[in-house]
Amino acid sequence: MNDSSDIIIVGGGMVGACMALAAAREGFQVTLLEPRQPSLEWTGDDFDIRVSALTRTSETILRNLDVWHSMQQRRATAYENMHVWDRKGFGEVHFAAEDVGAPNLGHIVENRVIVASLWEQITHQANIKHVADVEIVSIEREGDQTKLIASNDDVLSASLVIGADGARSSVRELVGLTASTSSYDQEGVVCTVKAEQGNASTAWQRFMPTGPLALLPMNEEYFSIVWSTSPEQAQSLVNASEESFNLELTQASEAVCGKLSVVGERAAFPLRKLKAERYVLDGVALIGDAAHVIHPLAGQGVNLGFLDAAMLMDVLIEARAHRESIGAMGVLRRYERARKGHNLAVQSAMDGFKHLFSNNNPALSLIRNLGLGVAHHVSPLRRQFERVALGEGVAVPSLGKRL
Ligand SMILES: Cc1cc2nc3c(=O)[nH]c(=O)nc-3n(C[C@H](O)[C@H](O)[C@H](O)COP(=O)(O)OP(=O)(O)OC[C@H]3O[C@@H](n4cnc5c(N)ncnc54)[C@H](O)[C@@H]3O)c2cc1C
Repeated sequence: MNDSSDIIIVGGGMVGACMALAAAREGFQVTLLEPRQPSLEWTGDDFDIRVSALTRTSETILRNLDVWHSMQQRRATAYENMHVWDRKGFGEVHFAAEDVGAPNLGHIVENRVIVASLWEQITHQANIKHVADVEIVSIEREGDQTKLIASNDDVLSASLVIGADGARSSVRELVGLTASTSSYDQEGVVCTVKAEQGNASTAWQRFMPTGPLALLPMNEEYFSIVWSTSPEQAQSLVNASEESFNLELTQASEAVCGKLSVVGERAAFPLRKLKAERYVLDGVALIGDAAHVIHPLAGQGVNLGFLDAAMLMDVLIEARAHRESIGAMGVLRRYERARKGHNLAVQSAMDGFKHLFSNNNPALSLIRNLGLGVAHHVSPLRRQFERVALGEGVAVPSLGKRL
């Protein structure tokens, strides 16, 4: 097979599918590589244990791509409050949508809902070709074309190849874009739980010495949880009986919503940090987790990825209007300049939070012992946290603005 298009996107997860749809709607011919088309069926009977807390800017991007409505028809839960604390009675930080004049602070959406809603639109787009079974073995640049050579000698070429193939990006590896990685020495335990007293449309975040526990509201009485803790404790939480897991979790949440009871499976994901040194090369760009992976505290990963896709889109449209090659290094550098600083800033802010509350932080121990708690010392960071949660303080690409 010899296939040629304007843009090849490797990876059709949340970020790659968003990029493919955005590019196709602007008239680019897109080839999308993804091992399998995700299921579009929806019964809503059970919950996906992987969810995303989407900012209002991500909502706007997905609205502008005509995806939001179908996500809401499946399941998307708006949350109006966020409550951050370390120990009951030791100060807490609460912020509400009404404080910032917004109807909500964002939505919690299952990853499979986001992916299925994007792919539903993709299937209606005649200028996206989905290729499922290709194993890329090398990537070469020839003139103004980037060529993907497959293990069966098929060649796919395009002016631009976008790596949206996640943290273990093979595009990044094959073109030799280096990335620094490190482990947080934590795993994130994820599952869905039912709350005895309902979720109060509130995202709860407790900072414990072992790591943060996030309770993200779903419907009225469920939470999707991300409990970041040591790998040993994570494994023991996953393997514990439901009864003892429920007990430990309810205690860890200080029963702010009453007893919590697990529904369905539990899993633990190792938490790693990754920063690609460069996001672009002649004819190649990285977006989403292929370029940056951050701590799931405050759930920002996919929001940054959507901003990458939307910003790259702006740059490509501008290049086309000026008759520049969309794969030219000068063009792609504009994307990198627009996104890398913000991604690094959010990454550092999340690391700052994590370290501030970690076990071996002497300043925090003192704060705790003095009984001052989270509120006093977090307030300088509070506004930053709000801005990050709301997706503010960033150059907003066209798709992130209300059309
Ligand atoms: C425990 C946990 C909780 C999280 N919670 C949140 C949250 O609340 N909010 C948030 O914003 N983020 C959250 N994240 C992060 C978020 O899940 C990621 O940022 C997001 O999945 C990145 O999307 P992506 O499309 O870039 O990559 P991925 O989701 O990794 O998708 C990559 C895609 O590429 C495909 N692929 C891979 N290799 C190839 C190949 N060689 N050829 C073709 N296709 C390929 C894969 O099949 C996949 O579909 C969380 C992460 C963890 C671990």
